[in-house]
Amino acid sequence: MFRDITTLLKDPIGLRTTIDTITERYRPQKIDKVIGIESRGFIFAAPVAYTLGAGFVPIRKQGKLPAETISCDYQLEYGCDKIEIHADAINQGDRVLMIDDLIATGGTMEAAIKLVQEMGADIIECCFVIDLPNVGGSQRLRQQGHQLHSLCS
Ligand code: IMP
Repeated sequence: MFRDITTLLKDPIGLRTTIDTITERYRPQKIDKVIGIESRGFIFAAPVAYTLGAGFVPIRKQGKLPAETISCDYQLEYGCDKIEIHADAINQGDRVLMIDDLIATGGTMEAAIKLVQEMGADIIECCFVIDLPNVGGSQRLRQQGHQLHSLCS
């Protein structure tokens, strides 16, 4: 079953409340970069970065970023996929916030975390609009010691 977030996005109050709720959680922190995961993560990460006065960094599927990249493979239900980030996107010690729309198996965010940690960033938290706890990804990543937050489950 695919959870369709376009019904939330098209609602002016729903969209604003979602962005504002995420922003308010991280306003007290010093965030250098907000990382959005392709593609629906971009929708939330860019306005949050703008409002926090942070930079926005995209993590994209293979072959989409124009400059030099570093990449990470991850498992899908059937087969595997690759995500990439620009090699110069993160500075050592940057305090970063990771954002995606939804966590299911956690495979996508796990790969994104690996990329960003390899670059020497300090991940403050991984934030999702939706967690599907029955799939188990959020529990798995928490057990690995990662800090996760979702607006709803
Ligand atoms: P995971 O890697 O299994 O945790 O899947 C999460 C990634 O797949 C995120 O980038 C989501 O955007 C996308 N995704 C998986 N299932 C859904 C869904 O039901 N609705 C929206 N996005 C989904």
